[in-house]
Amino acid sequence: MQGLHKYLSGDGDKMIELRIDDTKVEVKAGATVLEAALQAGVYIPNLCYHPDIPPIGSCRLCIVEIDGVRGVPTSCTTPAKEGMVVRTDTPKLQNLRKDILWLILSAYPGDPEKASQLRKVADWIGRKDLLPGSVPKPANILPAFDDPFFVRDLDKCILCGRCVRMCQDVRKTGAIGLVNRGIKTVVGTGGNAPLKDSGCKFCLACVEVCPSGALYDKEKLEEPERAKKLLPCVNTCPAGIDIPRYVRLIAAGKYQDALEVIREKVPFPLTLGYACNHACEEACRRGSLNSPISIRALKRFVAERDSGRWRSKLVIEPSTGKQVAVVGAGPGGLTAAWYLRQAGHAVTVFEALSEPGGMMRSVIPAYRLPRKVLAGEISEITAIGVKIVTNSEVKSIDVLFEQGFDAVFVAVGAPSGMKMGAEGENDPRIMDGICFLRAVSFGKKTDIAGEVLVVGGGNVAMDVARTALRVGSKKVTVLYRRTREEMPALPEEVEEAVKEGVKFRFLTAPEKISSSGKKLGVECILMKLGEPDAGGRRRPVPIEGSNIVIKADRIITAIGQRPAVPDGFALPLDKKCCIQADPETMACSRKGVFAGGDAVSGPASIIEAVQAGRKAAVSIDKYLGGSGVIDRPVIPAEEPPFCLGRDESFCSCERAGLPSISAAKRRSNFDLAELSLKEKDAIDAAKRCLRCELRLKISKAPMPPDKKE
Ligand code: SF4
Ligand code: SF4
Repeated sequence: MQGLHKYLSGDGDKMIELRIDDTKVEVKAGATVLEAALQAGVYIPNLCYHPDIPPIGSCRLCIVEIDGVRGVPTSCTTPAKEGMVVRTDTPKLQNLRKDILWLILSAYPGDPEKASQLRKVADWIGRKDLLPGSVPKPANILPAFDDPFFVRDLDKCILCGRCVRMCQDVRKTGAIGLVNRGIKTVVGTGGNAPLKDSGCKFCLACVEVCPSGALYDKEKLEEPERAKKLLPCVNTCPAGIDIPRYVRLIAAGKYQDALEVIREKVPFPLTLGYACNHACEEACRRGSLNSPISIRALKRFVAERDSGRWRSKLVIEPSTGKQVAVVGAGPGGLTAAWYLRQAGHAVTVFEALSEPGGMMRSVIPAYRLPRKVLAGEISEITAIGVKIVTNSEVKSIDVLFEQGFDAVFVAVGAPSGMKMGAEGENDPRIMDGICFLRAVSFGKKTDIAGEVLVVGGGNVAMDVARTALRVGSKKVTVLYRRTREEMPALPEEVEEAVKEGVKFRFLTAPEKISSSGKKLGVECILMKLGEPDAGGRRRPVPIEGSNIVIKADRIITAIGQRPAVPDGFALPLDKKCCIQADPETMACSRKGVFAGGDAVSGPASIIEAVQAGRKAAVSIDKYLGGSGVIDRPVIPAEEPPFCLGRDESFCSCERAGLPSISAAKRRSNFDLAELSLKEKDAIDAAKRCLRCELRLKISKAPMPPDKKE
């Protein structure tokens, strides 16, 4: 960040030489004696020093003796000078440090945590015995547990001031300071206000630099999970899009830069901006404060402003002479094709349907993902030379190899709807949800004008229910065997369905279907919730004797899908009909054959399929003799600004709702339901980000060596 490495690798050319404990040290002019010593591997005890924070020398542990200088100056505030002779560990200094440490610990309750810097420094210096009868006198300030993210246990504060300087001098947020006077001085907020009301931006830099254990995270953050937990948005996005970076660039009005950051990882920024299931938002840390960052809507905002600048930065490697066949033009197949073509391979994508896009084209309704958006992004893939052959169902991989392809990527999705297992479900008035959505997507007649029951609680069920209303159903009721809380569908999809008039019957499961006159009679059993299952959702338990009959004209099932892999592929499948492939390399048991996306994982999201395509591209490129490097930075990395500044309203700023067409207007057509963020709203939404990435960039404080030499 700043600090020590500024002098070790900074721009200043002038070097000076000094002696520290008989070691000759050369440092850049401007370094302090402490920094020069640390560079030379000479440890001087310190607590209030931190490489990223301006030094103040308040703890006085880093005192040294310097020839020709009176007293014992603090090395963190003394500039190194040419010819200086410094001693860091004389008996006099050792005794003085023990006295200083004694004073620090005399107000500390108990023993500092083993992992804390305070404990390590104390062990290194060695503790002085307390006078007989003397015990530490903490101020008895109760720990504050009511702030989000971290605890303030001020009895453990040694007033080193690192947190305050970080907040005031580096972040320039000024949420905390040293308040009260004399022995009552503590780290606090103005007027003892809650952190939320004091301008705190919850960057948690204060917690990161606290050496004493006075400020600590509520959540356990241990390696190797620490970085994942501190930056959950990036680590939840299957493709690992650098979300804080593009959000920060949007806040700064740099829309093309932001788009290029997204394009580094995915070829479908706009499609994902419309239809991603945005698991990153569920994980976003801002959600613990009030509401998560509108990550998906921000992606759509920049993708809608695409000037095409990124195209001039695209590099297509010279032809390798190798040919790859991709089976299935869904998100996984097209993503793999995009990267493999850039690596110089000739790529042909075979698609069984009349148009490419897979589930994005045939299942996601146009009111959520306009057809021209998807077609536009697919045309960028063909523009770099990927060939897409539609109406072309591949039945045998051998045939592809016979045609001269060197590698095959199987990305055929999971297009077969599952059966309910209810008696009488073969009635022709019972339809599978995926078939229904596909029929509507390709303009076929569906004849579902009457009362429709939709069975299921996921996103496909919501798409089916909302689509059924749009193609003329008089009444649509969703039957779900658990309650609304357990529904796997995104909450906003359920809300929009309710607004459009879809009815819900929870804790209800069909058991038997019979014809009763013109209508279907659906015998259902009512459920109650039992113990949680392996996934953590409470299990539905039938209530004996609670059967009811519901009348309907049509039933559409949306209770899950599975792949339909042709036997001619000769690929081993698991019990759920999914292709068995290595989850990292996507390699199948057949040489030169790779598989990914829903065909391997079972039904998943667009972005998970995209990531499967990315992984497959890496492996296939390596298999064909390439480097396997698909991520080529489109935009050079910039150092994020460490200063956050002050904004009194930062914490109270809520996530703005996305504008949409009124339910009454949209429920009878396939026009886009959700509108774009306006520019000002997008910038405000981006500015809400907690900039969680900054904490990971804070330097480590210098710790004592394991053993005193
Ligand atoms: S809370 Fe921690 S970082 Fe802040 S002054 Fe106290 S000991 Fe230092
Ligand atoms: S607040 Fe920003 S950086 Fe932190 S998890 Fe949310 S989007 Fe990511």
